[in-house]
Amino acid sequence: MSPRPLQIAFITSEMAPLMKTGGLADVSAALPRALARLGHKVTVFLPRYARIPFPPGDFAGSVHVPVDASPRSAGYYRRTLEDGLEVVFIEHPPFFDRPHPYGPSSNEEYGDNRLRFAFLARAALEYLRSRGQRPDVFHGHDWQAGLVPVYLKSFYWDDPALHRSPSVFTIHNLAYQGTFGGDTLDVLGLPWHFASGEALGHNGGISYMKGGIQFSEMVTTVSPQYAREIQGTEMGYGLDGTLRGRGGDLVGILNGVDYGEWDPRHDTYIAAPYSADDLSGKKKCKRDLLAAMGLPEAPSLPIVGIISRLVAQKGFDIVVDSWYDLLQRPIRMVVLGTGEPRLEQGLRSLAARAPDRFALRLEYDEALAHKIEAGSDVFLMPSRFEPCGLTQMYSLRYGTPPVVRATGGLYDTVEPWDPSTGRGTGFRFDNPDGTGLMWALDQALSAMKDRAAWKRLVRNGMEKDFSWDRSAEAYVAVYRQAMEKV
Ligand code: ADP
Repeated sequence: MSPRPLQIAFITSEMAPLMKTGGLADVSAALPRALARLGHKVTVFLPRYARIPFPPGDFAGSVHVPVDASPRSAGYYRRTLEDGLEVVFIEHPPFFDRPHPYGPSSNEEYGDNRLRFAFLARAALEYLRSRGQRPDVFHGHDWQAGLVPVYLKSFYWDDPALHRSPSVFTIHNLAYQGTFGGDTLDVLGLPWHFASGEALGHNGGISYMKGGIQFSEMVTTVSPQYAREIQGTEMGYGLDGTLRGRGGDLVGILNGVDYGEWDPRHDTYIAAPYSADDLSGKKKCKRDLLAAMGLPEAPSLPIVGIISRLVAQKGFDIVVDSWYDLLQRPIRMVVLGTGEPRLEQGLRSLAARAPDRFALRLEYDEALAHKIEAGSDVFLMPSRFEPCGLTQMYSLRYGTPPVVRATGGLYDTVEPWDPSTGRGTGFRFDNPDGTGLMWALDQALSAMKDRAAWKRLVRNGMEKDFSWDRSAEAYVAVYRQAMEKV
């Protein structure tokens, strides 16, 4: 007999394509669908941000949601997407009717984020409580949903509807911890003992991320290697001790790729389709990319592609600092990204030194991202840390071997090329500096000279399967473990 399907409440602050700043949005779009394919019933809770058209679905009532002393209520709008996935939009214009999810720009935070995301967590719980629906498990994502386990273990533990509900908390990026002032628990009305270092107390403040870690039944993060790394001081961002304490309940599950969106065999953004058996279309994609970036045609010069948020985590300071060495190599580079002004400026200066070989687009452009995956010869990801990373998995499927720093999900998904055995899918370097970066890039450039071997490397990558189905099964196992713990 197959085990009973699960009812899962999935609370997230991003979901592609409705609201996306990074990989969390892709996960929130793909994992619930993969869970549904396995027969489980998922309800996704998402704020109704300004850019999501109103009404976002059918009105499904409103409920008083107490987060601080002010009276507030959430309006709920339920929409069943074409493929059957149910999304409940949480409407509270004073908090969410804003163009950006976390701050006026990607470098700034809104001053009321502690209330906004307490509201998200509590409004999701109130929706279910008011209907008398107890899901089998709650699944919260990143600090924005970190209070879900905290509320479950406090106000709702003895609730007639939600009593003793288990939760799973997923860390997509430990660097963003949602740490607020020491008065936050008073403001939220949570008991004072939640302020202890065993609970949400963190460096004199209150961390929602820590709350999610400490009060959920199971904690997951998005790759096995990142699960190990965050238990150490270097990558633990001050929460390594907390994570070591939960080490027995901490599981790394790789994100999957949505191959419906990211597959060169049927990608409508790219100039020509291609596959591992017939790579001829990739040449057209390369020409198309050069044209899109305004670079001259020169088929023999390899293209190094980059698509990324331009933040310290992603290691682009290393690229900027390596400008001299990079310009010595017979390569062209195409960069698509937005982020910190100092990195944008650094890349601009690099591009200005060789405008015929280095092209930069400081914007967010989905179509161009696909063209870069398809039209590049290698894909560069020099991350200082990388919880999972999606773009290197895309590049494997697009026959664009990745050159990556050996960290987190990059370590788990890119196997070093070994010409003596013909095994491997890309190139890894250990030291996050120019020497490491150039060493790995040079390995790629020299491997490219042996066309037959390079083809083998390209095919090895294209044949890798990081589909969501396997990851979803791993999440189900974690959900069941969480359910057994309460
Ligand atoms: P992170 O979540 O840390 O930003 P991931 O590699 O997990 O990194 O996910 C990044 C996602 O965002 C990928 O789908 C990538 O294609 C996309 N992306 C990042 N920057 C841009 C951009 N400037 N234009 C288009 N897509 C982008």
